Amino acid sequence: MTIFIAIYITIVGLLFGSFFNVVGLRVPLGESVIHPPSRCGSCNTRLGAKDMVPVFSYMFSKGKCRHCGVKFSPVYPLFEAAAGLLFLWMFLRFGLTGAMAIGIVLASLCVIVTVADLKYMRIPNKVLLFFAPILIVLRFVFMDAAWWHYILGGVFGGGLILLIVLLTKGGMGMGDVKLFALCGFVLGIGPAILAFMLACAFGTIVGLILIASKIVQRKQPVPFGPWLALGTLIAYLYGTQIISGYFSLIG
Ligand SMILES: [Zn+2]
Repeated sequence: MTIFIAIYITIVGLLFGSFFNVVGLRVPLGESVIHPPSRCGSCNTRLGAKDMVPVFSYMFSKGKCRHCGVKFSPVYPLFEAAAGLLFLWMFLRFGLTGAMAIGIVLASLCVIVTVADLKYMRIPNKVLLFFAPILIVLRFVFMDAAWWHYILGGVFGGGLILLIVLLTKGGMGMGDVKLFALCGFVLGIGPAILAFMLACAFGTIVGLILIASKIVQRKQPVPFGPWLALGTLIAYLYGTQIISGYFSLIG
């Protein structure tokens, strides 16, 4: 039975992933996510059902438009696959529980934010405003720590990034502040601190690699939202284990 639920959740994740691409690419431009239907950016042919099967359409068409042969960005199937895997991962980690529900909503937010921030260097308010009430209600319904852990996590997350924005005047923006306030709230204070440390570590390592390989310039701003999102997901999935492992090492 478990295998069927796992497959079902993965397929749902892939389908949602396809929609998250559309949300992440259109909402920052103020466009509707439903209308108009997706078209090839080059020949303007409307994409049919055959072109919109997550991941597989891309694989079978070798990443090209079936009509004009223009190459599509591999980013689309990548984020579809990421959403499918994250949905599955949440199920394998938490089973059919409230923690899984929160994890899936959190992963959805993280995928959309990553798409939008990488493409436009912006985290759209509309997306945050859509997810905030769902995550806040779910968190208070399925608490696995005292309520103040979550409040403290939100204050810490938003406050810390706000401080960085005020002190550095660049790199991070108010979108990151709001995003990490929400993520910090969902995580609770302990995992929120861990998520921030992970985000900084990933951001620094990948930033240095990109600078060393001359893909980006030293002064070029790099979006930080994707790292906050990645740190948040790892801290949500394994935060408790990582933190207790760390304290048993030093204690
Ligand atoms: Zn085309």
